[in-house]
Amino acid sequence: MIEIAIDGTAASGKGTLARRLSVKYDFPHLDTGSMYRMVALELINDKKNDYTNLEIESCKIAKKLSFKQLENNKLRTEVVAALASKIASFPGLRETLNLKQIEFANVNKEKYGGCILDGRDIGTKILPNANFKFFINASVEIRAKRRLLEKNISFLHGNDEECMLQSLIIDITKRDLSDSRRKTSPLVPAEDAFIIDTSSISADEVMSIATKIIERSNKIVG
Ligand code: C5P
Repeated sequence: MIEIAIDGTAASGKGTLARRLSVKYDFPHLDTGSMYRMVALELINDKKNDYTNLEIESCKIAKKLSFKQLENNKLRTEVVAALASKIASFPGLRETLNLKQIEFANVNKEKYGGCILDGRDIGTKILPNANFKFFINASVEIRAKRRLLEKNISFLHGNDEECMLQSLIIDITKRDLSDSRRKTSPLVPAEDAFIIDTSSISADEVMSIATKIIERSNKIVG
């Protein structure tokens, strides 16, 4: 049974790689970042939430969270991402979500012969014995440009576009720092992870590097 763990910084291309590998090998994929985002979105939507008991409230939401909720476009905003990164430092919340992630991996390995999880602590904490571990990174400028393109805002003038790019660079840098400096499960590459810098390569090239690594092991036939 195959486990593929993909970690990396925000907007590095780890989600794209995970989705492509999931299609290629027919293994279910879990975007664990969307679980932290879903808890953050529910906190934002709760009008009674006064942000005083964030840890307790976020644990309550996480316990009830189902995988079906994760297909939600509202998860993709920078406001949701910033709160997700803040609450991701709560050990109690991480424990609750970790159990769901491990369950996803076990159920799908049994049913489909493999699973793919992407996030920040997959290779270090959730799947420490994964058959393949990848750590994806890129320069913050490139990652911010990719996020801007994803937003598909064609009506922006040159100056506005530059302002938005700068603001994305600031947001992503803050998130990188909070993710890599927190005490519980900080963002660090697992010692045995293949590190791929996607700054100057396309998504197709990243996929090709990853599949070569996987297929030369002969553990999966592509
Ligand atoms: O990957 P994504 O940008 O959607 O993740 C949102 C936030 O969730 C991250 O900035 C990080 O703080 C948190 N996260 C985490 N551990 C994971 C996945 C995401 O702490 N396994």
